[in-house]
Amino acid sequence: MSLYVTKFGGSSVASLERISSIAARIKTMLEAGNELVVVVSAMGDTTDDLLEMASSIGDNLSCREMDMLLATGEQQSAALLALTLNKMCVEAISLTGWQAGIKSDSSYNKARISGIDNDRIRNELAKGKVVVVAGFQGLSPEGDITTLGRGGSDTTAVALAASLKADRCIIFTDVDGVYTADPRIVKEARKLERISYEEMLELASLGAVVMQPRAVEFAMLFNVDVEVSSSFNHQPGTIITGVSDMEHQKVVQGIAHDLNCARIGIFDVPDRPGIAKALFSGLAEERINVDMVIQAAMRDGRNDIAFTIERNELSRALPVVERLVQEIGATGISYADNVAKISVVGAGMKSNPGVAASVFSALADEDINIQMISTSEIKISCIIDETQTKQAVAALHRKFKLAEDE
Ligand code: ADP
Ligand code: ASP
Ligand code: MG
Repeated sequence: MSLYVTKFGGSSVASLERISSIAARIKTMLEAGNELVVVVSAMGDTTDDLLEMASSIGDNLSCREMDMLLATGEQQSAALLALTLNKMCVEAISLTGWQAGIKSDSSYNKARISGIDNDRIRNELAKGKVVVVAGFQGLSPEGDITTLGRGGSDTTAVALAASLKADRCIIFTDVDGVYTADPRIVKEARKLERISYEEMLELASLGAVVMQPRAVEFAMLFNVDVEVSSSFNHQPGTIITGVSDMEHQKVVQGIAHDLNCARIGIFDVPDRPGIAKALFSGLAEERINVDMVIQAAMRDGRNDIAFTIERNELSRALPVVERLVQEIGATGISYADNVAKISVVGAGMKSNPGVAASVFSALADEDINIQMISTSEIKISCIIDETQTKQAVAALHRKFKLAEDE
């Protein structure tokens, strides 16, 4: 008997018909002799709808109350799935995140799971039940409901799989695996049979929303085998796992793009120790995540500094940056929210020089201007105009011949 933790995303539970179809799939897996924990996301666009509804109340809403609201989406789908399973004569029980023992820190809206007390789940499994868990939610040390950041049901599933020492965590979604690029924007994208934790973590952190980055971190930390599969068909999916064969690491495994990006530039920043600290600790205090940072060469004792942040944090960041600019004696700022980040990821890059040159030439051939560049051992990212995103991803996909079989 195997224990599987499965997760069904928003489009997989978008209607009662969809819920009925996944319930039938769960029943088949159960009848094959498996134990099942099923994590669900909210139905379809429920989370977006709740966010929009609350935004009409006004700005600067309480993060605590927002989490209270957002967590209701997953509770609906969990209960509806358990009710549907019961009607199919499958014994099932739905649990909220806190009933399932998921503890988190207190950072509302992007809380991190700090521990799982899985006794209740184990007891219900021992009674022969399918345990349906509302994803994306936890309980803070103060006893408040938290949510785990967009896409957080992936993390609920992988964390439960780690805690329960499940045989596998299966992420059922609306694509049948992890592709060399988002298959919705590159139609030649190829499904990968396997991908390493390291590469998946980069792709996810750089915009491939098919897995939440934190979920991949959990999988890597606790060595959970994760499979990404479609809930709409029975094609084999992609296995995310550790790598054993360094020789076969591909130079470029995939391309990611991220539109949730904005660029801020600060002019004439005085060139003296402690300035970057003042600027970036000021932003950190306001919980604004800074991504790429570039400092231009000094002239006349002053530098220009540019950095990127999440686009949805721009309106909150601008007043903070304007205040910090005054404090550090810089002369002004510019910003753009019409930028995108495109990234090329591959573990084999470490030992293959020349990848950056190929990236830049592919973009130059398309007449795409690069506004910022950042690199790590296994990735190269460029900020470009967002209207050229699709063209850039397709050009890089061709340049590295990713449509061709491994
Ligand atoms: P769910 O609601 O099931 O969590 P998501 O929308 O969060 O689904 O993630 C699935 C989506 O991820 C796909 O529809 C696809 O457009 C997108 N995606 C982005 N990059 C990739 C990639 N490299 N491989 C597969 N899907 C990707
Ligand atoms: N419903 C949440 C979201 O839309 C969590 C999830 O789907 O994983 O982000
Ligand atoms: Mg998702």
